[in-house]
Amino acid sequence: KSEFRKQFKENLLLAFTILSVIIGVIIGFILRKYTTLTPVQKQYSVFMGEIFLRMLKFLILPLISSSLICGIASLGSANKAANVASKALFYYMSTTFLAVLLGLFLVITIKPGVNNKSKIMNSINQDFLSDRKISPFDTILDLIRNLFPDNLIQMSFVQYESKILPKYKSPLINSSNNFNSTKELDYWYPVPSQRQGINVLGLVMFCLVFGFTISKMEKYGQLLLELFEAINEASIKIISYVMLFSPIGICSLICGSILNMDDPKIVFEKISLYVLTVLLGLIIHGCIILPGIYLIVTKRNIFFFAKNMIEAFLIAIATSSSNATLPVTFKCIEFKNKIPKSISRFVLPVGATINMDGTALYEAIAAIFIAQINNLHLTFVDYMVTSFTATLASIGAAGVPSAGLVTMVIVLSALNLPQTQISLIYAVDWFLDRFRTLVNVWGDSIGAGIVSHLCEEDSQEIKNLEEREDSFS
Ligand code: ASP
Repeated sequence: KSEFRKQFKENLLLAFTILSVIIGVIIGFILRKYTTLTPVQKQYSVFMGEIFLRMLKFLILPLISSSLICGIASLGSANKAANVASKALFYYMSTTFLAVLLGLFLVITIKPGVNNKSKIMNSINQDFLSDRKISPFDTILDLIRNLFPDNLIQMSFVQYESKILPKYKSPLINSSNNFNSTKELDYWYPVPSQRQGINVLGLVMFCLVFGFTISKMEKYGQLLLELFEAINEASIKIISYVMLFSPIGICSLICGSILNMDDPKIVFEKISLYVLTVLLGLIIHGCIILPGIYLIVTKRNIFFFAKNMIEAFLIAIATSSSNATLPVTFKCIEFKNKIPKSISRFVLPVGATINMDGTALYEAIAAIFIAQINNLHLTFVDYMVTSFTATLASIGAAGVPSAGLVTMVIVLSALNLPQTQISLIYAVDWFLDRFRTLVNVWGDSIGAGIVSHLCEEDSQEIKNLEEREDSFS
C-alpha cells in the first residue's frame, strides 16, 4: 500500500510539473500581450524560478562530492574504476563525434545560410563583439585549469571566453535604433545569476583523488566513508523536497523566458531555416541515434528508460543548464532507472561537463551557417577543422546557459570567420539552448545506462552493497 501511495505521489508531481510548462508558456504570452512590464517587473516574475534554481545548484556540491567519494572508495580497485572511466570516455567521444557529423551533414544539405541571405545580412551588427581570438589551445588550457581547482569553497569555473560574453540586447531587434554595443543591459536574460557555474570538472577531480585516498587509509578511512555516505543520503532526501517545488519553479522560469524574449516574429522569420536545421539535428540525434545505440548495446526498452527521465528533461528545458539539472538526473537514473550508483556517480557528473552532444551538433551547424552567409568556399579540410573544433568547443563548454554560444568563438576563429556574426544567432540562443541542454542530459543518461550494462559484473557486486541504501522512499 505504501508503495502504491509513493507511486501515486510521484506521478501526481510529474503531471503537475508537465502542466506547469504549459501554464508558464500561457501566462508568459498573456503577460506579453496585455501588459507592458518594466525590466524590473519581469525580474519579479522569475523570482520563484530563481529560488528553485538556487536550490538545485546548492545541491550539486554535497551531492556530487559525497556520491563520487563513496563511489570511488567502494569501487575498491583502481582497475574497476579505470574500466568504468574508459568505457564512459569512449561513449562520450564517439557520440559527440556522431553529433558533429550529423550537424555537418544537415547544414551542408539544407544550406540555411545560403537561402534567405539578403534578409539575414541586414541584421548583422559589426560592433557586437570585440574581435578577440580564442584558439583551440586556449580552450584546452582552460579545461586543464578547471581540473585543478584552487579553492574548494569558491569553485566557480574558469572560462576565458566568458569575458567576451555578449551582454547586449539582440541586434536583430535593435539595429534600426541607436544600438550601443558598449551598453550592458541588466535584463538580457531572465535570471542573470544562472550563468555562474560551479566547476564540476574540478570537483570530480578532487573527489576522485579524495575517494581513492580514503579507500587506502587504515584508521580513519571507514569513518570518512560513513560520513560521506550520510551526507549523500541527506542530499538525496533534500532533492525530493526540492522537487516538490518544481511545478512553481518551472512555471516561473518558462514564463520569464517568454517575457524576456525578443519579438519572435522578427527574429525567427529571418533565421527560421537555421533554427529548424538545429532542431531537426537535435531530434534525429536524441530520438534516433542515441536510442539506437542504447538499443543495440543493451537490448533494453528505451521507452521505459526515457519515461523515467521525464522530470530531468523538464528541468533541462526550464533551466538550460546540465549542471542545474544534475541532481534531478541523478534521481531519475538511480531511483527510477535503477542504474547502480557506482556507475552514475562517475558517468553523470563527468558527462554533464564534457559530454554535450546537443552542443557539439549546434556548434557545427552554427559555424557552417555563418560560413555560408559569408559566401565562404569550404574545403574538406575546413570541415575536418570544424568537426575537431566543434567537438572541443562542446567539451570546453560548461553546463550552464549559453555556454555553447560562447565557445562557438573557437570554431569561428579556426575557420577565420568574423566573430561579430555571433550576434546573429544570439537572438535565438535562449530558445535553442533549452533543446540542446535536453539532448546533453539525455546523452549522459543513456551513457549511464550503456556503461552500467557493459560493466554488469562490477555493477552486480555493487548493487548488492547498495541495496540497503535506497533512500528515496
Ligand atoms: N546550456 C548547455 C548545457 O548546460 C550548454 C550549451 O550552452 O550548449 O548543457
